[in-house]
Amino acid sequence: MNQHYPFVNTPLPYGYDALEPYIDGRTMQLHHDRHLETYINNLNAILINYKELHDLSLEELIGKALFYPPEIKNPIINNAGGVYNHQFYFNAIHPLSTMDGEKNMPVGELSQGIDQVFGSVEQFKHQLTKAALSVFGSGYAWLIAGAGGRLTIVTTPNQNTPQLARYAPILNVDVWEHAYYLKHANRRADYLTDWFQLINWKEANQKFIDGVL
Ligand code: MN
Repeated sequence: MNQHYPFVNTPLPYGYDALEPYIDGRTMQLHHDRHLETYINNLNAILINYKELHDLSLEELIGKALFYPPEIKNPIINNAGGVYNHQFYFNAIHPLSTMDGEKNMPVGELSQGIDQVFGSVEQFKHQLTKAALSVFGSGYAWLIAGAGGRLTIVTTPNQNTPQLARYAPILNVDVWEHAYYLKHANRRADYLTDWFQLINWKEANQKFIDGVL
């Protein structure tokens, strides 16, 4: 994801209905084509007159946001964050590749890291679910890796992003209601149970390896 201004809404790497029955096609279509697209359009509109920012990646825009003039500081945190967080979310899940009823489990170095830090996959799921349920209003829960590959679960409000200079994001789950309300209504916990079935563990393991080295 080395895009810079003008940002474009690239297609999902799978069909809108490819994640059913866990996440429905209508939700995915609205989420990608309307919600993410709005963040992209807003970000481009904010940046149009700031030519010095046109070569920056999303990560760079977010990382430097504290130094921007007040009129664009929060708009960039919200909208560059909105683009980054959504692209990360859509790329971290994929159509279920396991057989019906089989569990979707971590692989490789990340699997070992999760066992070391959380004790077991079940404990990891429990803690990530607890964190995601604790987000008041809208935001995200993340699995991130810090120095030495130390895994931690954090939450961010709104479209804030973990400090990308210090942590490598491994997974995020969007708990804004637009991510689940059509299918799961107000049952965020049920959405999280379904989301766990869709994690692209191979991709997450690659992010862990890349982030630690
Ligand atoms: Mn969203």
